[in-house]
Amino acid sequence: MPEREPSGGSELNETERVDKEHVFGTWSFQKDVSPTQVVDADGAQFTTADGGQYVDFSSQLMCSNLGHSADAVIDAVEEQMRKAAYVSPGYTTDARAKLGKKLAEVTPGDLSKTFFSTSGTEAVEAAIKIARFYTGKQKVVSRYRSYHGATYGSISVTGDPRRLPAEPGIPGTIKAPDPYAYGSTLDPMESVEYIDEMLELEGDTVAAILVEPIVGSNGILVPPDEYLPRLKEIAHDHGALLICDEVMSGFGRTGEWFGCDVFDVEPDIMTMAKGLTGAYQPLGATIVTSEIAEHFEENMFCHGHTYSGHPAAVAAGLATIETYQKENLIDRANEMGGYVGERIEELAADHPSVGETRGVGLFRGIELSRRADERVPFGTRSDKISSGSTVVDEVAATAKENGAYVANMINTLIIAPPLTITKDEVDTAIDALNAGLAVSDAAMD
Ligand code: PLP
Repeated sequence: MPEREPSGGSELNETERVDKEHVFGTWSFQKDVSPTQVVDADGAQFTTADGGQYVDFSSQLMCSNLGHSADAVIDAVEEQMRKAAYVSPGYTTDARAKLGKKLAEVTPGDLSKTFFSTSGTEAVEAAIKIARFYTGKQKVVSRYRSYHGATYGSISVTGDPRRLPAEPGIPGTIKAPDPYAYGSTLDPMESVEYIDEMLELEGDTVAAILVEPIVGSNGILVPPDEYLPRLKEIAHDHGALLICDEVMSGFGRTGEWFGCDVFDVEPDIMTMAKGLTGAYQPLGATIVTSEIAEHFEENMFCHGHTYSGHPAAVAAGLATIETYQKENLIDRANEMGGYVGERIEELAADHPSVGETRGVGLFRGIELSRRADERVPFGTRSDKISSGSTVVDEVAATAKENGAYVANMINTLIIAPPLTITKDEVDTAIDALNAGLAVSDAAMD
C-alpha cells in the first residue's frame, strides 16, 4: 500500500511539521499522519495555510452543523466566559438550566433530564452506566457496523474494527447484525428478528440495546421504517432499554431534530454531542425519561466529571439550539437535503463505481464498488485499522484537490455539510466529487 501523501501533495509547513512531531494524530499510524493547518473558516468553507480553499462537505467530523461563523454562539460563549469561566457541577448557570429544559423540549416524548459531559464517547459511557444502574442488569447489545466512541465502555460497544485493538474491553457487551440490505446477507427486518432471538437466548439479562438510529461513520445505513419501532418493542419485551446514539445523527442532520424522529420512535435514553454545539464547544449530553430520572431520586447517580455542564459549553449549546430554531435550520436541512440527494443521484448515474447511494436530509453516503451492479468494495473494514491509503481515500483526496473536503470511512464517502450550506457550494462540492469518482471508475476491475 502506498503511504498517504501530505495534504495537497505539498511539503509540511513549520506548524504542520512541529505538530506532527509533538501531537498524536488520531486513529492513525503516526508515520501516515500529515496534519493540514487551517488558518480560516467561514460559513461552509475553510482555508488552509497553503492558500487552499474548500467547501466543507462533511462539517469537519460531521459536527460543524452551523458552519464556521455562527456569531450568536461565539458571543454567548464569550459573554459566559467573562461572567464566570467555570463553576463546579454543584453550582449552576442560567444557560445550564435553560439548556436542560430546551433539550427536554426538542427531544421526543418524555425524555426530560440530562447529564452533561464533554464528548460523544462520555455521553455513551453515561448511557451505559445509567442503563445498568436502572435495570440492575449488565449486558449491552449493540451492532457490528457502529461507532460509539473511543473510551473503554464506548469502544467496547462499538462494533467496527476500531474496537479490536482495545479488546477484550468491558464485560457484558454483545454484537448484533445490522440493517444493511446492500452489504449484509441478512435482510434488515430479518436482522431485527435475530436480535429478538438473541435477547431470548440471553435469558432477559440485557440492560439495553444501543443503536445509531441511522448509522453514521459505518456507512450511512438507513433502516426500513418499521425497523426502529420493532427494535424498541423487542427491547421492552425483554425488560431492556432502547438507547439511541444521536451523536452524529442529531440536531437537524437528517432533516428532523433527531434520527429517531425519522421513525417516530422515542428512546428511553438518548446520547448527543457534535451538533449539540455545532462543535463550537466540546459538549456531550445523555438525556433520560422522567421514569428513569425518578429512579435516581432514591438511588445514587454514581457518575460525574469536573467539566459536567461547563459554563462555556452549555452556553454554546443553548445558543446553538436557539440558532437552529430562529433560522429554521431543521427545515432547511430537509429542503437542501433534497437538492443534495438529487445531485448525488446525477453523480451515481454518471459513475459506474458508485455501488449504492443512501441517506436522508443532509446525512448521505455514496458507497463504492469495484464492479458495476455488484457489491465488491474498494475499502474493507480492516483498512480502518491498517496503514496506507485506499481507492476511497484517493477519491476523497482528488475531491479535495478540486475544492471540497469529503470525509470517507471504509468504503463510503460521507456527505454531511453544514445545515447552512448554499446551493452554489453544493454545486462546487458535487463537481469536486465528480472529479474524485473518476479515480474510482478508473480503478474498477
Ligand atoms: N457516537 C457516535 C454515533 C459517533 O459518531 C461518535 C463520533 O463520531 C461518537 C459516539 C463519539 O463521539 P466523540 O468523538 O465526541 O467522543
